[in-house]
Amino acid sequence: MTQDADEGERAGRDQPPEARSEPPGDQIVVPRALPVLPARRHIIFPHMVAPLELKAGPESQLIDLALAGDKMIGVVAARDPEEDDLTPEDLYQVGTAVLVHRMFRMPDGSRRCLVQGVRRIQTIEYTQTHPFFIAQVEVLAEQAVDGEGVEALKRSLLGIFQQVVAESPQLPEDLYISALNVDEAGTLADLVAANLSLELDDRQAILEELDVSKRLRRVAQGASTELEILKIGSKIQSEAQDEMQKAQRDYYLRQQLKAIQKELGEAEEGPEIEELRQRVEAAHMPEPAHKAALREVERLSRMPTASAEYTTARTYLEWLLDVPWSRSTEDQLDVPQAQRILDEDHYDLDKVKDRIVEYLAVRKLKHDMKGPILCFVGPPGVGKTSLGQSIARALGRKFVRMSLGGIRDEAEIRGHRRTYVGALPGRIIQGIRNAGTSNPVFMLDEIDKVGADFRGDPSAALLEVLDPEQNHSFSDHYLEVPADLSKVIFITTANILDTVPPALRDRMEVLPLPGYTEEEKVHIAERFLIPRQRKEHGLKGKQLTIARSALRAMISGYTREAGVRNLERQIATICRRVAKRVAMGSKQAARVTAKEVEAYLGPVQFFSEVALRQGQTGVVAGLAYTPTGGEVLFIEATGYPGKGELKLTGQLGDVMRESAEAGLSYVRSHAERFGIDPWTFDKLDLHIHVPAGQVPKDGPSAGVAMVTALVSLLSRRPARSDVAMTGEITLRGVVLPIGGVKEKCLAGHRAGLKEIILPAKNRKDLEDIPEELRHELKYVFVDSIDEVLEAALEPGKGPRKRAAARRGPKGSRKKPKAGSRS
Ligand code: ADP
Repeated sequence: MTQDADEGERAGRDQPPEARSEPPGDQIVVPRALPVLPARRHIIFPHMVAPLELKAGPESQLIDLALAGDKMIGVVAARDPEEDDLTPEDLYQVGTAVLVHRMFRMPDGSRRCLVQGVRRIQTIEYTQTHPFFIAQVEVLAEQAVDGEGVEALKRSLLGIFQQVVAESPQLPEDLYISALNVDEAGTLADLVAANLSLELDDRQAILEELDVSKRLRRVAQGASTELEILKIGSKIQSEAQDEMQKAQRDYYLRQQLKAIQKELGEAEEGPEIEELRQRVEAAHMPEPAHKAALREVERLSRMPTASAEYTTARTYLEWLLDVPWSRSTEDQLDVPQAQRILDEDHYDLDKVKDRIVEYLAVRKLKHDMKGPILCFVGPPGVGKTSLGQSIARALGRKFVRMSLGGIRDEAEIRGHRRTYVGALPGRIIQGIRNAGTSNPVFMLDEIDKVGADFRGDPSAALLEVLDPEQNHSFSDHYLEVPADLSKVIFITTANILDTVPPALRDRMEVLPLPGYTEEEKVHIAERFLIPRQRKEHGLKGKQLTIARSALRAMISGYTREAGVRNLERQIATICRRVAKRVAMGSKQAARVTAKEVEAYLGPVQFFSEVALRQGQTGVVAGLAYTPTGGEVLFIEATGYPGKGELKLTGQLGDVMRESAEAGLSYVRSHAERFGIDPWTFDKLDLHIHVPAGQVPKDGPSAGVAMVTALVSLLSRRPARSDVAMTGEITLRGVVLPIGGVKEKCLAGHRAGLKEIILPAKNRKDLEDIPEELRHELKYVFVDSIDEVLEAALEPGKGPRKRAAARRGPKGSRKKPKAGSRS
């Protein structure tokens, strides 16, 4: 019994049914009348031990009764396991006589009993149906067969069962050993069937099969099916496991990698990466930039911090983050206020200021941003930058300035591709970053000094920057994502317009700032420069005053410029000296007059060359227009015995050389009229030199000056010392108009000249000349070279008088004709 109890506990833990080593045998007598327990999901095979679940009430009663008596009952399966109220008709006819070994209660309150199959039985008739079934039964005998066929079937079934046990995770290994030890073929079939997960119908059919070889076949079939299912199941399982293992393996490897990197001091994804990710999110970039930035963060997270690539990728990311994609300032478009600010910051410049105010007014009325690009043209120090700053101030925008001087490489504008070592974005993006907003006033300085060579044409890239149709998606080679420049106000500056690439010039509206007269400079100094420098040096108004006479002395003796930059520097020098004295304890207020200037600034730096040069034959003052403003150029001519050749020096450009040659041809062809022996030219070599020899010079406007110098030399009539001239000549002696009149007049005035000879066609330009200059200088307008000579040269003796007598009062325009005849 103890053994039974043990067995029971095992079976109670749902152990698979197994054949008892010592079958209760066929000796046990099965009574004819048996209480019948309907089984719902179980088929009990003879010799098998299995648990049965019991319902409370009659079923438990039945078991109690059996346990009290001979312990034998019949177990018959119900056809429909779900049916609650079973009648004898609901039950199969074939069942099993079993011995009840034990009954035990389960923790959930239900009851189970452990039964052992004894014989197959068939119910003949039910004699009682209440409270439980009692039936007349008949024991079914197996049709025992021996022989090789059965043996073969047995082995094949065992073979299959062995595999089933091996594949099945539920069946214990030793089950196969138990099966191996069963001699009875029918019992073996029952044992195997009991351990397969067959359908209830199939099990019942096996129970009902009394032909042993047929039963063996049936079970073998069931076992094969089960084996197939198990194999598929384990294949699926092993695949799933493989996947799991790979994931696990990757995880471990990654963990190890991290540990190794940590040992090497390389990056594990630190707080830095997370911080970068947050910064990318906070930057509110447009979609392409956002994507590029996130991609870069991911790349960084996988890179060791010590690698060179990390630094480049990090720099790139920082650039992306630094561009003010969405940061901008609100425009304050108050036109009267803008006018006030411009007046507050600048003296005079009324025309330019008017144009700027108009520009701002149009922006206020028309919001599409597509205004013209303003271009301030003028020499250094005339207030181009400071006008730009005032525009920014009036609009409440940031101001940035970027010099384009000397740029020859497109990459300077557009940036280098990231594959270059040390690549950076171009100047435009750098400027925008420096501004910190996406809509600054952006001043592009020295646009006239942009050149092109084999490295590409920067002006092409500039065109893209300045073109409102294109600049909403400007592509910088370094950033690789489009940037919107359409909200930027671009202003360009140039010293002269001639060298600005024509395509660029077309896009811009030129506002000329030609330079200041002495009087204007004095005003600018008094109103702006002195107060500013005083403030910058920490001086109070009373501590330093500079007299007007001192300013004039500084302008003429210490500066030679169209603007006021050097003047401001000289004022700063005085301020420094005074500040030093104040700091050393001096209480005395400094008042600088003309006499004291030398004490502050040292010896006078610029003398008038005019007096030194003029009054000699062959030397004439010409007027030129250079990037630094107007200038007085002395043209010197000399001659020596030779073969009539012309030598030109002083770094003259082609146009100027040709102009000299044309001048000589004209003089030669009219020699007689100028009192020159025509044969002189065959015996003389001529040399024209234009100092300062270091500075390259070009342009046609020195034509009249060169002719005058040659005539002065050859006719020995010195030029008048207070006259300067400018104008282009033709071979017929006609004087053509030139540019830069205001600058040239300013330069002449600065140099202390009194009279300026200008082409008649330039008369209209006199309107632009400041009042002061109009009064202080005498202007002579000429149509022909003869008029020039008349005005510029001291009266000569001899032939000139004859020529003048021939000419008559209005003959100037006809003279060239007469000349060409001679
Ligand atoms: P640019 O850019 O043309 O070379 P800046 O704008 O730098 O010249 O001018 C040089 C200095 O002269 C600045 O301090 C500027 O304020 C001052 N300045 C030039 N023109 C004027 C003016 N019309 N009124 C007041 N200050 C001026």
